[in-house]
Parts: sequence; C-alpha cells; structure tokens
Amino acid sequence: MARIGFIGLGNMGGPMAINLIKAGHDVVAFDLVEAALERVRAAGGRSAASAREAVLDANFVVSMLPAGRHVESLYLQQENNACLLDEIAPETVIIDCSTIAAETARKVAAAARERTRRMLDAPVSGGVGGAEAGTLTFMIGGDAEVVEAARPVFEAMGRNVFHAGDAGAGQVAKMCNNMLLAVLMTGTAEAIALGVANGLDPSVLSDIMKQSSGGNWALNVYNPYPGVMDGVPASRDYSGGFQVDLMIKDLTLAMEGAAASGQSTPMGALARSLYVLHKNGGALGHDDAGGLDFSSIQKLFSS
Ligand code: NAD
Repeated sequence: MARIGFIGLGNMGGPMAINLIKAGHDVVAFDLVEAALERVRAAGGRSAASAREAVLDANFVVSMLPAGRHVESLYLQQENNACLLDEIAPETVIIDCSTIAAETARKVAAAARERTRRMLDAPVSGGVGGAEAGTLTFMIGGDAEVVEAARPVFEAMGRNVFHAGDAGAGQVAKMCNNMLLAVLMTGTAEAIALGVANGLDPSVLSDIMKQSSGGNWALNVYNPYPGVMDGVPASRDYSGGFQVDLMIKDLTLAMEGAAASGQSTPMGALARSLYVLHKNGGALGHDDAGGLDFSSIQKLFSS
C-alpha cells in the first residue's frame, strides 16, 4: 500500500482517486470544490485542507487539473519562499496526468529535476468511462526507471501504460491522439446527420458503419447521436464527459505544436474551427456549448 497525494478531483480525477482507494492505497486528496472531496471521503479516502497537506509524506503525488496554468501554479507558485515541489520529498514520484502543452510539462519537470525531484507527465485517454472502469491508457514522458517505480499506481487506474520518451513526450502523444479524436468525432456526427436527413434511423446507420470501413472509437463506445447508445453523454443531454472547452484547449495545443514544428494539420485546424463555432452557438444559434460534452458537436449538424 502506498500513501498517495491526489490533487484535482473533477470528472477524471475523482474516479481515478477512487480506483486508487479501491486498490488499497491510502489516498489524501485535495480539490477546490468541497463536494469533490466528499465523494473521495465517501469512498474511504481522506481529504486535505490544501495541496501542501495532501503531499506531506506521500510516496506518490498525482495531479489531474484542467490546463497548463493550473499545473504551473500548483507546482511552481511560491508561498513563504517555497513552491510545492520544495515540499515534496525527493524519493516521491510526481505524476501529472493533466493534458497540457509539452513545453509546460518540460518546464515543470526541469524545475523538479533542479530540486532532485522525480516527475512524469502522464496524460490519459479513455474518457470518464475509462477513468471509472480503471481502463485508462497512460502516455508517459520521463525517465524509464521512474515509470517502472510508478507502474503499480498506473495499473490501479488504467489498462495500458506506454512510455513515450523523455519529459514532455507523453503530452506530444496526447496532442496527436486528441487531434485525431476530434476529427473522428466531427466526421461521425456529420455522417450520422447526413443519414438521418436522408431518412435513416441513427441506430441502424451506426450499427452498419460500426461493422464497415467507417467504424471508429466514437461509433463503438461514444455515439454522439441522442438515444443511440445508453450511458454516454449524448443520452443525458451531453452532460458529464469531456467538455467542449477542454477539446478546444487540446486542439489549440495541437495547432501550437504544428506551428512550432512547421507541420501542416488541415484536418485538425478544421476540427478546431468547428468546435469553436459550436461553442459560440453554432450555425443554429444555440447557447454557449463550452460546458457540454464534446460529442455535442452533433448539434452543429442536426437541429
Ligand atoms: P474537470 O474540470 O472536471 O476537473 C478539474 C478539477 O480540478 C476540478 O474539480 C477543479 O476544482 C480542480 N482544480 C482546479 N484547480 C485546482 C487547484 N489549484 N487545486 C486543486 N484542485 C483544482 O476536468 P476533467 O474533465 O477532470 O479533466 C482534467 C484533465 O484531464 C484536463 O487536462 C483534461 O484535458 C484531461 N482529460 C479529460 C478527459 C475527459 O474525458 N474529461 C479525458 C482525458 C483527459
């Protein structure tokens, strides 16, 4: 059993922390939202009054925050002439699972290294369903021996553990994956709307495409059309899941990565434009969609 400090208990971090508790670890969690702490306590974990309290005596620190600015301020912001990295013991393994720019991950990892702290960037794929089921895929940047030291923690929360390379490499893999996910989700929503507009039942069309050359992850486990699949955000008014705002953040990271490397990413650029259009009310003039699940891109194509 390890003592784990867990910071950020949102849609993803909450169920990830609960899986660590179920695996027998002693989890001390911190979030800004009291209701999130209550869920962890109800699952048998402990809550802390601050991030500094959560990391005290921890063997592992896991963070799962919205964006790079949150991760930078969590680990690097000075308080009484010390940042959180200074408060974490050198033998502790620090695992940041947030999706952030590779450059920011490298900056925080370099600050950790300067202090002889061991840190990994370990963004995830698999969505809220994967976080709840403990089947996430981890894409990890950092030293191989640190990845091995943290393997039991990853395996309590996920099914696939990939070491992508040095610090920041996990974030590069995540940026590529989520750009492809946005393209697949947008294309799937467009295809289903086309079928429905031409008289097909969306469930029948989805079954056909799943077994045909258009088959993909969105059709298999995350159908964007309301009523086709049970238990997905599309069947609960696009609540929960992976927010449009977070997908726009990830696509913006991909566009920055493309600019930095001189790479052309036309499909990713179009997907980002469509998500921004959707967030801003779309062609149909509905409300700000930033807080809805990303499969709500279906609304751009169907009234
Ligand atoms: P979320 O907004 O539901 O949760 C973020 C949590 O962090 C909130 O509970 C918030 O209160 C907390 N928080 C923010 N600043 C904090 C601070 N300084 N100290 C403590 N807690 C703080 O977001 P999410 O959906 O859980 O996503 C988290 C990360 O995982 C993001 O980087 C996202 O891109 C990535 N991600 C999300 C999904 C998904 O399906 N939701 C899938 C893969 C990756």
